[in-house]
Parts: sequence; C-alpha cells; structure tokens
Amino acid sequence: MSQDIEARLDRLFQAFRQWSIAWGVSRLPRDATVEFDDRIESALGLCEVRAGRIVLNAVLLRPENEGLLHETLCHEAAHLVVYLRYGSGVEEHGEEWRATLRRAGFRPRAVIPESEVGRGERSRRGRPGRIGASRGPGASGTVRPP
Ligand SMILES: [Zn+2]
Repeated sequence: MSQDIEARLDRLFQAFRQWSIAWGVSRLPRDATVEFDDRIESALGLCEVRAGRIVLNAVLLRPENEGLLHETLCHEAAHLVVYLRYGSGVEEHGEEWRATLRRAGFRPRAVIPESEVGRGERSRRGRPGRIGASRGPGASGTVRPP
C-alpha cells in the first residue's frame, strides 16, 4: 500500500473516531468492519447493519475523492448508529439518520451525483453515484452498543 493511501486512511479513521465520539459510540471504529471493494459498480458504499460491516467502493481511494470517501464512510457508519439506537424499524434515510450525519458535520444526502466522483481514465457508465445501504443477512453481534 502506498504511503499516500496510508496517510489518507489514517485521516479517514481519525475522522471516524471523532464522529463516533460525537455520536456517543466511541467503540464503533473498533467494532465495525470497513472494507474496500473495486468490484462494486452501482454504489459508493454499502452497509450490512446486522454484521456491522461497511464496504466502500475502491474508487473512493483516488486522491481527488478524499472528501467523498469521508462522506461515504460517515453515511454508512450513520446507518450502523441508527440501527444500534433504533433497530431496523426506522426509515433508511429518515430524520434519525439525517441528524446523525449533521452531528458529524455533514449535510445529509442520500445520493451523490455521479459527476462528483473522480474516476480518472475509467469510462463513465452513466450510473448514478448513489450510496446504497444493503440490509442483507449477516452475522450478528459484530457491532454492539457501547
Ligand atoms: Zn444510505
């Protein structure tokens, strides 16, 4: 891994720790799993709340996408926080989720326009740069309330 990416990941997890403290779930960065995947095409990030697992699109590791990298991790981590607090009975991008994003300093938005995503040489495929939340089945107990 290049030092450049390492430094960006350091800043990302530093930010994640700060958001988690603001959310009152300071253990979250240790309890959640964050992975990068270069095969996901249709979303910038995914979250399996029951498994406490976040998958981020590897395109976010491009230097020009660092802002989106932070926003996407915060977006997905907020799904975990809402799940811990309220369970699965609330709206996916509802008021609870929006308040969680605001508390971390972000303007909540469920969808990021594709035009904001830097993809370098790769051809654009006309897909929206949406952030998706997957609620698929997963192992339980990975993320616990503090
Ligand atoms: Zn979402």
